[in-house]
Order: sequence, then C-alpha cells, then structure tokens
Amino acid sequence: MKPKTHEILERAAGRCTEEGECAEVCSHLKTLGDVCPGGIARALLNGPVEDRVRDFILKCSVCGLCSESCDHDVDLRNVVRAAREQFIEDGTMDPEEYRYLWIDHDWNVITAFRDTYQINEQYEDLLKESCEVLFFPGCALANEGPELVRYAADWLAGAGHEVGLSPLCCGAPLVEMGLTGRAQRYTEKLWKRIREIGARRIVTACPNCQVRLEHTGAGEEIEVVSLFELLAEAGAKARVIGNGRITVHDSCPSRQGDLGQHVRALLGDYEIVEMKHHGKRTLCCGSGGVVSQIDPEICGERARVRLEEVEETQADACITYCMACSHRLAGEPGGENIRYVLELVFDQLLDHGRYYEMIEAMWEGEWGEYNRDRVENSKELEL
Ligand code: SF4
Ligand code: SF4
Repeated sequence: MKPKTHEILERAAGRCTEEGECAEVCSHLKTLGDVCPGGIARALLNGPVEDRVRDFILKCSVCGLCSESCDHDVDLRNVVRAAREQFIEDGTMDPEEYRYLWIDHDWNVITAFRDTYQINEQYEDLLKESCEVLFFPGCALANEGPELVRYAADWLAGAGHEVGLSPLCCGAPLVEMGLTGRAQRYTEKLWKRIREIGARRIVTACPNCQVRLEHTGAGEEIEVVSLFELLAEAGAKARVIGNGRITVHDSCPSRQGDLGQHVRALLGDYEIVEMKHHGKRTLCCGSGGVVSQIDPEICGERARVRLEEVEETQADACITYCMACSHRLAGEPGGENIRYVLELVFDQLLDHGRYYEMIEAMWEGEWGEYNRDRVENSKELEL
C-alpha cells in the first residue's frame, strides 16, 4: 500500500467516532449496517476486504454529503478514492471496466459521440492555437449543447476578448476511477497545452471543471473563473418559462462553493422553491463517482430519489448548472422539466430526450461496431 493511501486510511480510522451521523444522510452508507467510515478505513488497512465493503467503495457516488454531517473532519471521499486506487493496484478492480470513460485516451464515449455526430465541426473555428480567454465547457456540455457553447463563446467575445475553446476533459473522472497516476500525467499535459495556447483566463461552465482546474492550477498564473459568475456580475438574467416557479439542483462538487449563488442570481426573475436538500446538503443526481460503469441501475435509483424532491416543490422546472446532472436527471421519468441554466440564459432550449436517442444509436449497427472497436483499441492521448 502506498504511504499516501495508508495515511488517508489511518487518519479516517483515527478520527471517526463511529456514532454514525453520516449514515443518517446516506442510504448507500446504510447498506453497511453498523460499519462506519472508520470501520471501512480499518477494513481496508487490514485487508482483504469483504465483498460488501468492495461493493460500497465502487458504488459510492463520491458526493461528499456524508462529510457535511461529520463534526470530526472525516472526508469519506478521500477514503473511497484511495481505496479505488489500492483496488487497481492489488488487482481487486480491473481498470478496463472503466475503459469507455478513459478520457486520457483518444477514443472513449465522449470523443466517439463527438466524432459520430461531427460535433467538433460546430465549433471548429473556436479551436484556436492561441487566445487570451479559453472557454472550457466540459465534456457533457460540449457534446450535448454545442449551440450553447457557441452562444457562450460569443458572449465572452462580446466583452472584447479573444476567445478560444477547449473541448477537453478536466481529468476529474480519472481521479474518481482511482487512476491517480494517469490523472496526474493527463493534468500535466493539459496545463502544458493551456500554457502553450497563452490563455490568461479559463472560463468554465461545469462545477467539476471549475473545482478540478482551480485545484490543479494552483501556482499557475492563469485565472479560473466560472461563466455563471461572469454572467451574474454582468447582470444577465434567465428567460422566465412557465409560471416562473423553479427549483435548483446544486452540484456535489460545488456544495462548498458559491457557484449556486451565482446561478440563483441569474434566476433572479423567478420564484425559487428550494428542495429539502440543497446547497451544502444537496443530493447526488446519480452521475457522481463514475458508478455508471459499475452499476447503472443504482445511478437511476439515485436520480429518481432526486426527482421525487423536485416533484415535491411543484416547480415548473428544475435548473441545474452541470450538464452531466441535467443529462442524468432528464433520462428518468419525471425528468422532462430539467433545464441546464444556460438554456434559459441564452434562450435556447435543448431536446434532452433526443440526446439519449443519439447515444443509443451510436452503439447500434455498423457505427456501433466501429465505435466499440475504436474505444476498445484506444491509445493514450497526446495533447
Ligand atoms: S459522522 Fe464522522 S465521526 Fe461520525 S461516524 Fe460518520 S465519519 Fe465517523
Ligand atoms: S460520498 Fe456520498 S454516496 Fe458516498 S458515502 Fe458519502 S454520502 Fe454516501
């Protein structure tokens, strides 16, 4: 076991009082009965782990809600990530199971979708060799909302800046898979590329990208700022739909940050009805922790639990500020009124159902065979 992993597990085992306040907020943690995060850490330190602990680790959405209930500074997300890394190292987990989400490879679900539907062509002129402001929409938005990417880039350019686009991944999925070394290598290449472009400012539209780029870019003299913050500062307002009553789904990576406040400022012309779990205590939409590759059904269950809270608000729509959350929630019954915030800001509603059909179709027939073949034979990406 790596010293770093050992340190993370020892810390959790030492700090946890095992009183179980965290399990009160998480049904997944409850599946372990009376085993608390401290017990999980000890089981991992002593190894080999029982199947139920392995299962818990691989199906945790790494959402961080449990940590919000902990007064003893135990962050179970770090334990889960360290355990996943250890599982890959000792062969408990085969990283091939995540291959379709290997964003550090030339072909994966994201790049294969983009190529199948020629998405890149829609913003090719924005893929510049040098620019002052680099718009970094994140994988989900770049695939599902290329029209919104264009609107956002135009809005940024309207402020007089030279704007380019990076449709690359921020690298966060590799961290969640436990592929820590590869995540680090990818991140180094990504930042080298950003420096080569000469960007002084990176503008994100995804909470995962914002947190990951801020975290890994410490020491770089390049500002990382959210598009939602810039729009809110400029006084932009979302178009009002329905009766003007909405709710907001906050994203797990930003539960500690102020992205949610900027988005609420954009929604200032609405009556906002908050869900029982919002802000710091938001619930995962079901897409967190790369669990979809291990147990897609549990992801659906998590989305349905979230949608029950949406329904309780009786709002006309539920607004997200992460396209991956929109995608996950819109795919379940009751998810018809999920909207990514930029759809309302730029008055361009997307057909989320159509996106599901496109994903399905890319794995069918000759294209399906071709896409599977290239993902299964993918090579590490050179940026
Ligand atoms: S709330 Fe914190 S200290 Fe209490 S059982 Fe959970 S992790 Fe341990
Ligand atoms: S990170 Fe989220 S899913 Fe995992 S144990 Fe904590 S609350 Fe539950």
